[in-house]
Amino acid sequence: MPKFLPFALPDIGEDEINEVVNSLRSGWLTTGPKTKQFEADFAAFIGEDAEAISVNSATAGLHLALESIGIEAGDEVITTPYTFTATAEVVRYLGAHPVFVDISSDNFNIDVTKIEAAITPKTKAIVPVHVAGLSCDMAAILSIAKKHGLRVVEDAAHALPTTCGGKLIGRLDSDIVVYSFYATKTITTGEGGMVVTRNPELAKRCRVMRLHGMSRDAFDRYTSTKPAWHYDIIAPGFKYNLTDIASSIGIHQLKKAWTFQQKRQQMAEFYDKHLADLPIILPPHSQNGDVHAWHLYAIRLQQDCGVSRNDFIQCMSDNGIGCSVHFIPLHIQPYWRDTYNLKPADYPNALAAYESEVSLPLYTKMTTDDQERVVAAIRAVLGR
Ligand SMILES: *Cc1c(COP(=O)(O)O)cnc(C)c1O
Repeated sequence: MPKFLPFALPDIGEDEINEVVNSLRSGWLTTGPKTKQFEADFAAFIGEDAEAISVNSATAGLHLALESIGIEAGDEVITTPYTFTATAEVVRYLGAHPVFVDISSDNFNIDVTKIEAAITPKTKAIVPVHVAGLSCDMAAILSIAKKHGLRVVEDAAHALPTTCGGKLIGRLDSDIVVYSFYATKTITTGEGGMVVTRNPELAKRCRVMRLHGMSRDAFDRYTSTKPAWHYDIIAPGFKYNLTDIASSIGIHQLKKAWTFQQKRQQMAEFYDKHLADLPIILPPHSQNGDVHAWHLYAIRLQQDCGVSRNDFIQCMSDNGIGCSVHFIPLHIQPYWRDTYNLKPADYPNALAAYESEVSLPLYTKMTTDDQERVVAAIRAVLGR
């Protein structure tokens, strides 16, 4: 039997390895010059005067983002149940409440036609999630937000690089965009994330809260009478800074972001072509030539395909292929279900997507042979 084909694998080159070794030899292990460079490179990648604030995870970044826009206990934040729990848990960190809105029936993103019905006087923000790397309908979301005076924080954990209406995610008019560099994401630092904003006040707050609420603002090295070691603590902040070891990886991963996207797109097209005749709903594509980051290749099994989703994944595993499920919707997870008294049928599209969804292996180190193995296994499992 050939080697087990995992669901995801990072693509780390010699440049990343050499840069990490260089950092280890330099003596700068924690946040230092490499992190500064990674932030500058990331800001340049996004462009249009974006500020990039590195963090040790997207979860941390989402927390900082919501804190900086002033989310407080009792507030409501609109998102979908079809996401990783991190998107909603950070709302709870602040004592606020996520309000879930179902996803569309034809993709895995928030159904923008259902957002307004979920808005109450307590609603402060919308957190759209670009699931799999396909952009949400940001034009609709930003216009609803504007109409109701809401903030928008994009969970772009899957969306590097993704475009919406021809503009890179990170360049739209939302308040903050948060990226993840977790090991399975489109670029990785092992663990890590980036907060991007064009609002200097929000950037400043995120920077201060990222590191213990420390501020050196009062310190000007030409005019201040305070010494270089001095700092002020202005809030009970967090410990969310990224290390130079992680940034060493990120600097080189970022350079490959577009190459990785092209490879992923080609791989998605390969699957599309070779799975087209099967009882499978293929993943939705972007509209109008927009870029899809293809973090995930998320198929849905048709009801008449002859095998349950769970059996399908088990059979694929027996055939040496790792698959995954994105996502187990939050409204059926014990904590969210019990805290907000949610029923499975409350979010019918999210539930139906979950019950039929399978994420196939998709990563830049996969070969055509690997993809052919996946296709052959799917055909065997479906008896085609
Ligand atoms: C991975 C992920 C996160 C969290 O990213 P971390 O960097 O692991 O904290 C948040 N939202 C979504 C949709 C994700 O997939």
